[in-house]
Amino acid sequence: MISKEALTNYKSILEDEKTILEQEIKDLEIAPDFGGNSTDIDTEESDESEAMGTNIALMQPLKVRLQEVNDALSKIVNGGYGVCEACKKEIDAELLGVNPESRLCRECKLRLQ
Ligand SMILES: [Zn+2]
Repeated sequence: MISKEALTNYKSILEDEKTILEQEIKDLEIAPDFGGNSTDIDTEESDESEAMGTNIALMQPLKVRLQEVNDALSKIVNGGYGVCEACKKEIDAELLGVNPESRLCRECKLRLQ
């Protein structure tokens, strides 16, 4: 059973992580400015869309992570936090300490990932 103190601690770690992830995603969402003075519009547009593609590729793992953090936070509020989604056993505190958004216990993580 996870103590209330530990739960509060995980919650604050997850909230910090959420803030950082949201900021990083926001930074990537801002289209890069290549300067509007170029007369060669075709070149500028293709540079920008290329950069946008790179940003989307960078954004994807951040969004996945943010989703995991949000799920973990809602489990802290609604119950079920710290329980392995695959075998329903409690996830050990050591693993949650390193990775508080973990959905799986150590064994299932090794087995499924
Ligand atoms: Zn498990």
